[in-house]
Amino acid sequence: MFNLGGEELLKQIVESLPDKADISEARFEGAGVVVFTRNHEFLLSAPSYLREVAKNFKLRVEARADTGILMPVEDAEEVIRKIAGNAGITSIFFDASGSRVLIEVEKPSVILGNGAEKLQEIKKKTNWTPVIFRTPPLKSEIINTIRRILTQNSKERAKFLHEVGLRIYSEGKEPKWVRVSFLGGAKEVGRSSILLQTPESRILLDCGVNVSSTENAFPALDAPEFDISRLDAVIITHAHLDHSGFLPFLFKYGYEGPVYMTHPTLPLSVLLQLDYLEVAQREGNIVPYSGKEIEKMVLHTITLPYEEVTNITPDVRLTFYNAGHILGSAITHLHIGEGLYNLVYTGDMKYAPTRLHEPAWNKFPRVETVILESTYGGNDDIQPSRREAEEKLIEIVKKTQERGGKVLIPVLGAGRSQEIMILVHEAVKSGKLGEIPIYVDGIVWDATAIYTTYPEYLHRNIRKRVFSTEENPLLDPMFRRVGGQKEREGIVSAKESCIIMATSGMLTGGPSVFYFTNLAMDSRNSIIFVNYQAVGTLGRTVQRKPEEVVINERGERKVIPLRMEVHTVDGFSAHSDRKQLIAYVRNMEPRPNLVMTVHGEPGKCVELASGIRSVLKISTRVPNVLDAIRLK
Ligand code: ZN
Repeated sequence: MFNLGGEELLKQIVESLPDKADISEARFEGAGVVVFTRNHEFLLSAPSYLREVAKNFKLRVEARADTGILMPVEDAEEVIRKIAGNAGITSIFFDASGSRVLIEVEKPSVILGNGAEKLQEIKKKTNWTPVIFRTPPLKSEIINTIRRILTQNSKERAKFLHEVGLRIYSEGKEPKWVRVSFLGGAKEVGRSSILLQTPESRILLDCGVNVSSTENAFPALDAPEFDISRLDAVIITHAHLDHSGFLPFLFKYGYEGPVYMTHPTLPLSVLLQLDYLEVAQREGNIVPYSGKEIEKMVLHTITLPYEEVTNITPDVRLTFYNAGHILGSAITHLHIGEGLYNLVYTGDMKYAPTRLHEPAWNKFPRVETVILESTYGGNDDIQPSRREAEEKLIEIVKKTQERGGKVLIPVLGAGRSQEIMILVHEAVKSGKLGEIPIYVDGIVWDATAIYTTYPEYLHRNIRKRVFSTEENPLLDPMFRRVGGQKEREGIVSAKESCIIMATSGMLTGGPSVFYFTNLAMDSRNSIIFVNYQAVGTLGRTVQRKPEEVVINERGERKVIPLRMEVHTVDGFSAHSDRKQLIAYVRNMEPRPNLVMTVHGEPGKCVELASGIRSVLKISTRVPNVLDAIRLK
């Protein structure tokens, strides 16, 4: 890593290029460098030069055209449309401050296929650098808004990214110590947040809320070691609110630095955060931030693909790997100093294949400590196999359908919902199940739209199918969008059998509560719980199958007889069970020295830690919230 300072680094990079490169400007774009050239020939041949430069300086270097040689916008657009052919361009945005043209297309494979020849041709003919985005196949307000925010503020964004680069490559010394403080999500599920400190860096890993608690809903940002004005970076492992829900709050309190996450995690987080605000407002709970702060968060977010090593501070490099949990979920690997220390934070993960994702990644160049989730780490947390779970769910749906009932599946919005959509789709297509409409309510639909926009983050089987035929099973017309209250009322009063997927997953608010109160007293109906039900939630109560449940509807006590069938189908968890958690560590390469268990009820964190200690002979720790632990 560098201790020359950012400006000096840019100077040295420019000096290392041949004279004919004719560079007019060099600047940072986050951890990477962009050089702007006045020479068309150099622009085209730059990749081969820059590969060497990148290796020497250990960072990404890209060449783009100086504004002086860019083809005028109208002409360029005509050329691009011709080259794109039948890719289905839906929008073109010319970002003059970055000499890039952002092209949104329905079929990216048409442009990206064939060794990306078409990209090269666009550059060759126009000098603009094309960047391709997939048009959301299902309309996505969220993705459109995010793309609009980023393009409308492209100048401000360029300035921000340059400043981030200057900070990353500012002068720094090799660190001598590493410590972590647990600000939330230790011996509990919810408000995950860990502060990592070195002499040079202060990095926050996740910033979640606990939606099922009012007392300890937010991370302990009042811990003395947390100083928002000195925070260098935030990393978000995935979009679920217990990992991302408190992030916009940082921007309300003056955070100006970068947030790192994978591409799909950004729209999914925004979706869940907006929903969280809406529910909080409706239920009269604390509303810790507003849409304004979410917008600020978008402007400060740097999205990364899996397996790309990125410098994020003078002494820390970040790499995301697939976590198999939900779209874009990431195992976070941090390389600290020049080989001083390596930390893996799993976030939530699934160490087994599912229909949508491949198993969580556990091979790293180096690793000393793992911070491991423990949601299902207890001694008794052995999940049935995915196949058994799938068969059980299809069986319940089939029986409910036969007696003319409706199936309610409360879900988290992103993850299991799409997993179950794929499962039912396949069951209907193969004749295991009769035709049945699936109503996908509100944000579950919006999340599905995001899933269809990033097929490259899905299991290779789906990925292949989408890229070869541009066909995605999630786009089947059997899935029907539910947009508002009127439609909901129509669905519960209609005679036909159906499946309803709605948030919240723990019946803590949102449309699932409406469906539940309207379907609970009819014994033909079924409710199927497919995810974790936290202590104190209505979901947890219903799961115990009492004769009646009491709910609070706008301050009014309502007693509902519980006659519908109540099922819990465990094997769908997007989390690893105990066996998978232990196998994840056992098969990890290289073997870690220390495992810290977090993200679980106290007993489960403790039981998982002792399991790992006795079976794998690896040291473990079970931190509490506010514990600070020195790793090196
Ligand atoms: Zn999660």
